[in-house]
Amino acid sequence: MTDQLQARCVFLGAPGAGKGTQAKRVAAQAELAHISTGDMLREEVKSGSALGAEAKTYMDAGKLVPDQLIIDMVKARIQKPDAASAWILDGFPRTLPQAEALDQNLSGDNALTHVISFAVPEAVLMGRLTGRRTCSQCGAIWHVDHKPTQQQGVCDHCGGELTQRSDDREEAIGERLEVYRTQTAPLLAYYGDRGVLREIDANRSPDVVFQELLTQMQ
Ligand code: AMP
Repeated sequence: MTDQLQARCVFLGAPGAGKGTQAKRVAAQAELAHISTGDMLREEVKSGSALGAEAKTYMDAGKLVPDQLIIDMVKARIQKPDAASAWILDGFPRTLPQAEALDQNLSGDNALTHVISFAVPEAVLMGRLTGRRTCSQCGAIWHVDHKPTQQQGVCDHCGGELTQRSDDREEAIGERLEVYRTQTAPLLAYYGDRGVLREIDANRSPDVVFQELLTQMQ
């Protein structure tokens, strides 16, 4: 079943909060473009582009890539036909300058409809990230304990090889959580002041979170 939603939505949350998993699922269900800046950057790295090479050093260290690079990438992406009216931004904005640039780029008919903050205790995030595995072919997200594949290291959906993101190693995770606290968490107040922010308790089963998201985004 699909129900097209006219939503222009930001998913905000710490690494491991489940934004990517839910954004993929909600976008498929509600016919929204799923715009993940992390996925776009990983594609750039894979393709060997200059942008990918520049971004990789920041990503591997768990740091944010420079604002202007990301802002230009997102601006170009939301002008594509599939993102004309309805999308989910997953992993953007992550800093105040990015949020301000987004506001400047969107106006009137085009304005943000929802900002959803995924709340998960920090102790839970670490376990989710260290066990996360991604299919190198179809991008499906698995977890060694919470969502294992039938055959270890092989995607149940497409048979692709599972890989661990280079920034899901413990050394980088601490840095990513710190970056979230200092640079991204201030966006909660930014969007709270504008009256568009809603919080979802994302420390529950993926199915429960998914259903609540669909309700919140109506
Ligand atoms: P993600 O898949 O969303 O966790 O992103 C992986 C990495 O890509 C982050 O740790 C950053 O290095 C980079 N990245 C993704 N989105 C952004 C953004 N909006 N601003 C800066 N860096 C980003």
